[in-house]
Amino acid sequence: QAKVAGKGCYRFYSKAMDQAVERRVQLEEELRGAWDRGELSLHYQPIYRLADGRLMGAEALCRWNHPRLGVVPPSVFIEVAEQSGLIESLGRHVLVQACKDAASWTPPGGERPFVSVNISPRQLRTGDLPDVVASALAATGVLPQQLHLELTETAVLGDEVQASALLSRLRATGVKVWLDDFGTGFSGLSHLRRVPVDGVKIDRSFVADVLRDPDDLALTSAIIAMAHSLGITVVAEGIEAEGQYAVLRERGCDQGQGFWLGRPMVAADIQRSFREIN
Ligand code: C2E
Ligand code: MG
Ligand code: MG
Ligand code: MG
Repeated sequence: QAKVAGKGCYRFYSKAMDQAVERRVQLEEELRGAWDRGELSLHYQPIYRLADGRLMGAEALCRWNHPRLGVVPPSVFIEVAEQSGLIESLGRHVLVQACKDAASWTPPGGERPFVSVNISPRQLRTGDLPDVVASALAATGVLPQQLHLELTETAVLGDEVQASALLSRLRATGVKVWLDDFGTGFSGLSHLRRVPVDGVKIDRSFVADVLRDPDDLALTSAIIAMAHSLGITVVAEGIEAEGQYAVLRERGCDQGQGFWLGRPMVAADIQRSFREIN
C-alpha cells in the first residue's frame, strides 16, 4: 500500500524496510558465535512457594551482552534466533548451562531446587528435544525432576496430538513440563485436560490487574481451581506488589515470581540464595 502513496513515499518506506532487514541480518550474523564469544549468559529469577515463602527454584533467563549495543533483551534476539534456526544450538547451550548451574545449588538438607528453562516453539518442533534434555541431564548430574521446561501455550496448541506425544515422551524422562504465559493464548481452560503438563504459569498481564480488575481475578481463580482439580501446579509470574502476592496466596496459587519477590540475578547470587535456605 506504500506504492499508492506516491513514488517518493514508496522509496522512503522501502528504504526503511531495507534498513530493518539489514539490521536483522546483522543481528543474526552477530548472534551466530555469540555464545562461544561469551556474550550470552543466564540470569536467574527466584521462584517461591507462596504459602510459606520458601525458595523452590529459579527460572533461567538469557541475556546478550552485545559489544556495541550493550544488553540486548531476549524479546529481541530470541525471535531472531527462532526465525534463523540459531535457537537450536542456543537452546542446547542454555539447557546445559542451566543444568550445570543448578547442579551447584545444594541447600543444606531438604529438597533440591529446580531450574526452569524456556523452550521456544522451534525447539519443540525439531523433535530431538527429549535427546537434548537427556544428554544435558547426563552431562551434569542434575536429577530429571529438578528440570522444568517452560513451553508456551501457543507452541503446544499448534498440533495438539503431536505435542501431546512429545510432552509424554519428555515427561517419561522425569522432567516437568510447564505451560508458560498461560491465559494469553486462546486455548481456554479446557485445553488443560488434553495436554499432559505438570504446571501452568499464569501470565503476568493477569497478575498485573488482579487487584483492580474483577475479571482478571475471576479468571485467575478459575485457572487455579481448574488446574488443581487436574493435579497441576500453578505459578504466578510478574508479582510486583505485596497485595498481588497476598491475593494469589489466598486464592491457593502454589508458587510465584516477580520483581517484588526477586529480580533476575547473576548465577553467583542465586547460588548464594540457595545456600542460605533453611
Ligand atoms: P518469560 O519466560 O515469560 O519470562 C519472564 C519475563 O518477565 C522475564 O523477562 C522477566 O525478567 C520478566 N519479569 C519477571 N518478573 C517481572 C515482574 O514482576 N514484572 C515485569 N514487568 N516483568 C517481570 P525477560 O528476561 O526479558 O525475558 C523475556 C522472554 O524471553 C521470556 O519470557 C522468555 O519467553 C524469553 N526467553 C528468555 N530467555 C530465554 C531462553 O533462554 N530461551 C528461550 N527460548 N526464550 C527465552
Ligand atoms: Mg518463562
Ligand atoms: Mg512467562
Ligand atoms: Mg485486564
